[in-house]
Amino acid sequence: MSQAPPSVQLREDLQDLEAYGAPQIDVPVRLNTNENPYPPSAALVRAVADAVAGIAGTLNRYPDRDAVELRKDLAAYLDEQGPGHGLTGERVWAANGSNEVIQQLLQAFGGPGRTALGFEPSYSMHPLIARVTCTSWHPVERDSDFGISAARAASEVAAARPAVIFLTSPNNPTGTAMPLDVIAAVCEAAPGLVVVDEAYHEFARSGTPSALTLLPRYPGLIVTRTMSKAFAMAGARVGYLAAAPELIEKLLVVRLPYHLSAVTQAVARAALAHRAEPLATVEKLRAERDSLVIWLRERGLSVADSDANFVLFGEFGDRHATWQELLDRGVLVREVGPARWLRVTVGTEEEMTSFRTALAEVLR
Ligand SMILES: *Cc1c(COP(=O)(O)O)cnc(C)c1O
Repeated sequence: MSQAPPSVQLREDLQDLEAYGAPQIDVPVRLNTNENPYPPSAALVRAVADAVAGIAGTLNRYPDRDAVELRKDLAAYLDEQGPGHGLTGERVWAANGSNEVIQQLLQAFGGPGRTALGFEPSYSMHPLIARVTCTSWHPVERDSDFGISAARAASEVAAARPAVIFLTSPNNPTGTAMPLDVIAAVCEAAPGLVVVDEAYHEFARSGTPSALTLLPRYPGLIVTRTMSKAFAMAGARVGYLAAAPELIEKLLVVRLPYHLSAVTQAVARAALAHRAEPLATVEKLRAERDSLVIWLRERGLSVADSDANFVLFGEFGDRHATWQELLDRGVLVREVGPARWLRVTVGTEEEMTSFRTALAEVLR
């Protein structure tokens, strides 16, 4: 006798949602998820493999649940970038991608009865993770150039009094970096935490300071970073944050024990030890980005200034048709952000040639 299956209902407050994710379509030129297009060299592959071999004999044991050595290495990397950030392992926290870092932040500091605020268009995972953690979402619209003034940002924050504020700089999907004086004004006005999502910081044009420089001044400031973009390690799933040690101690309440596997920790440390290699590709990608912006503008398109490894361009009456026509030519870009715009990730020189050829045909 067959039994009727139990009726399994998703939580009422999530029933209108579908699983999130960019399409993973197997085409020759994939420019839709902002990865670094350069795979690890043979030397880095060997270093990663050796690091995994080095810990494989201890995989019967749980990993270091505080990832102490990895956090020290990440702090050393951040510290070498800027003058006197003074970061140590206890001021850094790591998890499986910065998405998990953001989830832990909202689990610990958001939640029922609390509000998170973001300046849109921006990274769609911020409101989505807010939703899943039962944190109310308060969107504030950016100006038409995708920036926001210090005065307006501060007054929106003062009016909404959110527990958590997200500032994405450089912003995804627009590429816009947020000046430090705007970030400082938000920190002054904020009653709670300010999270600056710097997933793309390494790609910023020179002279764009990191919010890390503000950490000593604002105890409620948190800067998140990732190894998925400039570091060319999206497959390893490593994200991290820098903040006051007291904040990190509170965050530990929500982390799952042993959340970061011994394999992940070993791979991340090996990649950090060889960081010169992936970081050298950042120079190439920035140059490729800047010439792409010029090329798109020469064709009469609107292009947002970009400090990231992607470019938002438009405006299209029917962006889906343009997206499809590019896909028909083997080039996958992303339909994301404002309705009449598309986002393209900066790839290798060959990939960008394919993109230009395809787009020129589509525009004809
Ligand atoms: C890609 C991206 C991330 C990184 O996600 P990971 O989980 O670290 O791969 C975080 N924030 C923004 C704005 C991003 O675009």
